Amino acid sequence: MGNVERSLKEIGSFMKLPGANLFVTSTTKLFNWAQKSSIWPLSFGLACCAIEMMSTFASRYDLDRLGMITRASPRQSDLMIVAGTVTVKMAERIKTLYDQMASPKWVIAAGSCAISGDHYRHIYSVVPGVDWVIPVDVYVPGCPPTPEAFIDGILELQNLISKGETSPAYNAATYVGKDAPTRTNGIKKEKNLIESRFVNQDEILEYASEYKSKGFLYLKFITATDFEEGLTLTYSLSNTKTNEDIELNVNLRSNLEIDSLSNLFVGANWQEREIYDLFGIGFAGHPNLKRIMMPEDWIGHPLKKEYAMETHRLPYRPSKEEYESWKTKL
Ligand code: SF4
Repeated sequence: MGNVERSLKEIGSFMKLPGANLFVTSTTKLFNWAQKSSIWPLSFGLACCAIEMMSTFASRYDLDRLGMITRASPRQSDLMIVAGTVTVKMAERIKTLYDQMASPKWVIAAGSCAISGDHYRHIYSVVPGVDWVIPVDVYVPGCPPTPEAFIDGILELQNLISKGETSPAYNAATYVGKDAPTRTNGIKKEKNLIESRFVNQDEILEYASEYKSKGFLYLKFITATDFEEGLTLTYSLSNTKTNEDIELNVNLRSNLEIDSLSNLFVGANWQEREIYDLFGIGFAGHPNLKRIMMPEDWIGHPLKKEYAMETHRLPYRPSKEEYESWKTKL
């Protein structure tokens, strides 16, 4: 049985008559089937997530087989995949492109920046989720989402379209205290994280060396989180042979300096520079600890909660007071 016939069987039934084949379905189901089988996304990306989206479209994953062909014009597109950080400046352009797309149209918010602003959500220039600007049908978590996650989100959108069930969500923050939309999709958890532990600030080199000697040779990422009461560093190490990950966390309270892992993992070099630049954390023993994103003479560290967020806020930028009031309502 061909793919088309198999997929048509999901929306109706074939009848064999003398001299003819008859297919019985409803026009709604037929149109939904046609729409979900020919989604044409707009060629458009915003930040690092877009790189992952490009690899999803490339030959290894090959989205053409889902009937997806990217278009360079919004007028020929019916899907916008928002992949990357949405800045206040870009928000207007995104809205214009969305308005220019053909209807019916759908939106996938891909990656934690597009979903919520992620670690940039408190920054004056970032929109805390693209659903402040346009309605979103499917959210694909990750920083960035893997190609498999992108495909999962697209298949989910196809499911919703074929059932006629797309119910785009608009700016979850506006629902606080009212009728919050509920989503029933289960959260998929990463299965390969085998251990997550907190270690002391002066033990990070020791633990990282120990795990490296056990086969965790790949430093997936180092990231920092500002919990207001203090900064926490998170290190993710991977054993690519066993496909297992471990996570080391360090709470930094007063002393914002920790040993560098750059002699242990080559990839630590630029990641530590990024954390130094954005959070002001020092890495002792780093060979070249200087800013990597902001200009050398920039004042302050933009990902710290104390960083000013009161400028450049309209129209898609909540104030600090609004954030605080949501926190108490949530
Ligand atoms: S979610 Fe992560 S990978 Fe995606 S745009 Fe934001 S920072 Fe970059």
